[in-house]
Amino acid sequence: MYDMLIVGGGPAGYTAALYAARAGFSALVLEKLAPGGQMGTTDLVENYPGFPEGIQGFDLAMKMKEGAEHFGAATKLAEVTGLELAGETKIARTKKAVFQGKTLVLATGAAPRELGLPRETALRGRGVSYCATCDGMFYRGKTVAVVGGGNTAAADALYLARICQKVYLIHRRDQLRAPKTQLAKMEQAGNVEFLWNSQVTGLLGDTALTGLTVTNKITGQAQELECAGVFIAVGQVPETGLFRGQVDLDEAGYVLAGEDTKTNVPGVFAAGDLRKKSLRQIITAAADGASAAQAAEEYLNQ
Ligand code: NAP
Repeated sequence: MYDMLIVGGGPAGYTAALYAARAGFSALVLEKLAPGGQMGTTDLVENYPGFPEGIQGFDLAMKMKEGAEHFGAATKLAEVTGLELAGETKIARTKKAVFQGKTLVLATGAAPRELGLPRETALRGRGVSYCATCDGMFYRGKTVAVVGGGNTAAADALYLARICQKVYLIHRRDQLRAPKTQLAKMEQAGNVEFLWNSQVTGLLGDTALTGLTVTNKITGQAQELECAGVFIAVGQVPETGLFRGQVDLDEAGYVLAGEDTKTNVPGVFAAGDLRKKSLRQIITAAADGASAAQAAEEYLNQ
């Protein structure tokens, strides 16, 4: 029986583990693959304070894990296949074992929605990116494309317009989902070109992206667009299927929990990208982890 079970070993999970362990509670992180979550697969992290030269996402993940374990937290690399959250004892099942906790932190994160194009996975990190603030600097002075029409796509296009020579904004409709004020800002930037009613139908380049095939949905006409990077911003998919029906989620599947990370289930907390929130970054995930540990400590002390 652990004081805290943590499902997911990204920045939210390991920060919760660090705070819980430092407060003298027993904490176990259950992680299905490798520590770090989305951070672990990010090449260079330059927007996490304390690392003026930047740090490899994987290295930062290992440091977070080591930091938590230094104070006594434990890690089990195993995929959680079932959760029972309603009772006073929280239960997490893997294929081979059953773990029990007095509290449980959900920190399974979210994954960027993919376009589902051939070779999209192979070119990830080689021109295909899902995070402009993480990877935009690699394309300084170059031509890039952003796919999507929501707030993320607009924010990405504006961010990239400041550092790149040219930005194509490719959207499947003739109107943005993002507010008109964002459209006006992009028009003012002077280096954003819009491709409306358009879909990316192919990724060009062998070992690294060199361009895109873009097809106009109305005319059916396809064109090749030269660019060094494409930022896919077509929404995210929260990894919350495991506990759907047990914890309140919004219509998009994000956990309904406030800044205190408390879910509708007593003793169950939600930290990081899976929580309904406005900014999903390593630092906000870590902040959630600290809040979850604090809320869990209060719950345990009651
Ligand atoms: P989003 O609002 O769901 O927008 C996704 C965009 O991608 C939509 O324009 C959608 O097109 C397009 N799309 C979806 N699937 C596609 C596909 N398979 N192929 C091509 N295009 C596709 O997602 P988001 O922009 O990541 O934002 C998520 C949430 O965070 C939203 O609530 C947003 O307001 C919020 N957010 C807020 C801010 C802010 O500054 N306030 C910043 C970022 C995010 P359609 O429009 O045709 O559906």
